[in-house]
Amino acid sequence: MKHRFRICIWIPAVLAACAPSARFEKSDITGMSWFKGVTHTHARPDETDTTVQAAAKWYKENGYRFLVITDHDTVVFPSVLTDLTDSSFLPIPGEEITAIGGGIDVEISGLNIRRSVPRVTDQSVPAALSRSIASVREQGGVPVFNHPNYQWRLGSMDLAGGNDCSLFELFVGFPGVNNEGDSLHPGMEQAWDSLLTAGKRLYAVASDDAHVYGRFSPDLPNPGRGWVAVQARRLDAAEIMSNLDRGLFYSSTGVEIERIRVSSRRIEIALRDADHSRFVTEFIGPSGRLLRKTGDNPAMYTLSGPETYVRARITNEQGALAWIQPVFVIR
Ligand SMILES: [Zn+2]
Repeated sequence: MKHRFRICIWIPAVLAACAPSARFEKSDITGMSWFKGVTHTHARPDETDTTVQAAAKWYKENGYRFLVITDHDTVVFPSVLTDLTDSSFLPIPGEEITAIGGGIDVEISGLNIRRSVPRVTDQSVPAALSRSIASVREQGGVPVFNHPNYQWRLGSMDLAGGNDCSLFELFVGFPGVNNEGDSLHPGMEQAWDSLLTAGKRLYAVASDDAHVYGRFSPDLPNPGRGWVAVQARRLDAAEIMSNLDRGLFYSSTGVEIERIRVSSRRIEIALRDADHSRFVTEFIGPSGRLLRKTGDNPAMYTLSGPETYVRARITNEQGALAWIQPVFVIR
């Protein structure tokens, strides 16, 4: 009996591992290139030490191709930045929106919106978030859950809920937002794996949430700490936002990626290596399990069978990181 029981549980596992139908989900990226941008930063003089013009100039001069200034409860429209807008640099309208549920304030970003979204007050955080997200979507905008671990709000934000929001901030450059958690609270990567393992499709953004441009120090919220690179055929707000929303991007604190190639059974990540730096790429699967760790460039991962998703984190010698969005497995 013991022997038979073992076979019964072993055979399905082997069949799953060998199932020829298991394959990575692929997107058509023909003709696309990378566009570096930031989705959450501030520029209004009463929130920062700069101006909208000067902040946008900083991002343009530092190689960003698109910029969403997300001041609180105020949409910054590209029309105020026409002197900086050209084929190399695209401002996209946005706003940081406050949702208040049961007396707790939380925030989302509304990207590429046409008008300001009023503050919502409701009985619970999920209810307030849900209404704010719906307001962003109604305008054709893209919502992002902002810094969920700030003030340990993650537990009340219900990222797994039925909201039509596919993006959250995994890394935010603002000091004290608890990206990595502590002994009592999960870090954002751990939370991400829990949600992905439970079947939620969520993509991770890195952002600045910058407020200080005049003096740079690790304890100040400076620009240039976290960004995304979105794959698109052209620098167009609708295309950039749509592709961000469906996970066609990576997030970074300094590591740059040349290409990500996904075939039916393999993921290949080529890293931009201008300084002949050493990289470590970790491929991670359900429950945050480390599937493969390699110093190769390109880094490769071959589908072995039981994974439901595979994502990757790359670290360089200086400790800078990049996060590849999860590639889901179809059976
Ligand atoms: Zn902010």
